Amino acid sequence: MTDNRQLGAEGGVSPLRRILVANRGEIALRIIRACHEEGLEAVAVYSDADRLSPHVRAANAAVALGAPPAAESYLDIAKLIAAATATGCQAIHPGYGFLSERETFARAVQDAGLIFVGPPPAAIKAMGDKTEARRRMQAAGIPVVPGTAAPVRDAAEARRETQRLGLPVLLKAASGGGGKGMRLVRALDEIESALRGAHSEAEKAFGAGAVYIEKYLERPRHIEIQILADRSGRVVSLGERECSIQRRHQKLIEEAPSVAVTPALRRRLGEAATAAAGAVGYLGAGTIEFLLAPTGEFYFLEMNTRIQVEHPVTELVYGVDLVREQLRIAGGEPMRIRGGVSLEPRGHAIECRITAEDPANGFLPASGKVQYLRVPAGPGIRWDGGVEAGNDVTLFYDPLLAKLLAWGETREIAIRRMRRALRELVIVGLPTSQSFHLWVMDDPEFRRGEIDITYLERVGARLLEAPPPDDLVQAVAVAAAMLADERRTEAKADSRSDSPTVRRSAWADAARREGLRS
Ligand code: ADP
Repeated sequence: MTDNRQLGAEGGVSPLRRILVANRGEIALRIIRACHEEGLEAVAVYSDADRLSPHVRAANAAVALGAPPAAESYLDIAKLIAAATATGCQAIHPGYGFLSERETFARAVQDAGLIFVGPPPAAIKAMGDKTEARRRMQAAGIPVVPGTAAPVRDAAEARRETQRLGLPVLLKAASGGGGKGMRLVRALDEIESALRGAHSEAEKAFGAGAVYIEKYLERPRHIEIQILADRSGRVVSLGERECSIQRRHQKLIEEAPSVAVTPALRRRLGEAATAAAGAVGYLGAGTIEFLLAPTGEFYFLEMNTRIQVEHPVTELVYGVDLVREQLRIAGGEPMRIRGGVSLEPRGHAIECRITAEDPANGFLPASGKVQYLRVPAGPGIRWDGGVEAGNDVTLFYDPLLAKLLAWGETREIAIRRMRRALRELVIVGLPTSQSFHLWVMDDPEFRRGEIDITYLERVGARLLEAPPPDDLVQAVAVAAAMLADERRTEAKADSRSDSPTVRRSAWADAARREGLRS
């Protein structure tokens, strides 16, 4: 353990030796990797459904949580804290989703004498209620989307406020997240039913039905700023991420930097973001989301008080490891970022979320066994995955399987790299969003950078009508044929176990049958 200390703390005072990673999938593996690179040990947790997941094997130790439903595993605060103390952890990293933005969890971790890898509970609380966050941001001089200062009490008030703001408006859950509890209203007589819908969806998702109203902005971009704050009081802005390619308010593709952000605008956004973090006494990694109107005005949307799914695009253009910095800051050490408050990006990075969803079927969530997985590689490619061949993908959790990232000196090169990497990727066993990403990479509007949050509504139908690219279909067919060959060979070997089998290349055999090789 002495070695760990020297490595992890670099001569500093960090009390961290072992971290409990209270999450699953790609982000759990991502955090475990960062722990090991910092010279720390990592303890994984897993539900019965994730027994064979890569994150479980990657950790130094793993604790079983119980049945697959999140309420009985990854959302069970008592079990997580017991797992951390039983394995001698000093800290808990919550990842994203699950308990990462629950003030009660952060407090419970601290009450158990452990360090929460994230901001103080009070900062989570301040930003967790969207109407409170809006009030605080306004007080700090940051522009917010015009809207109500508090949740609306009834339909009559909703109607009055909508008339004041002007149609269209967006009803939003005060404790919202993941696009839940949101309703777009374009006509005044839709208010009542939209309010009922938003209210009951919010009640179901967050156990709190409060709904407020925002002016609906037409065709803005979703631009967010990554910040880091340490205990010395230093707050830095690591530029923007462009997250406008969304489906049902959920991001699908992200990039850094944004073609719409000039260095001057980046500075202004960075100043607003660092002021926002300062206003709530923030600590660690956080993201301030803004909507950027076509006129160039920007408005605070919300703050995510945790690491985000799309954090790697920032890492690729700023040469920073955000998760390692989170660990360092949690240990009380200064961040390692050199330079001033606002840094300059280098090159361009794109992330495609590879999900178990079928784009040809309305993005219907899919389940099944990953029978075969060929992961793309080569220059400028990063794969942050959470599954491998043999793993079962269930419907218990988020459908994200992996994040595929491409970096290039320019946006054009990053797009070309992403296309070739998407063509290298082969997943057999269940439908994924892979073909959707290939369509987008080939779409002229996307290539010109003409994107906003309505992109998918506008071009989605056109994209999804196109058949999947031939080479993609062929690669999957070859892999499937290869698997079938292998099974046959194994069956034969089993039945004649005394005779040695000469294994031929199943890929070559299958390719020959598909007419791809002679
Ligand atoms: P959640 O916390 O549920 O993710 P956000 O407030 O972050 O909700 O908004 C999610 C997405 O919804 C944004 O990225 C944007 O596409 C859309 N959106 C939110 N507020 C507005 C608004 N006032 N006008 C237009 N679009 C909006």
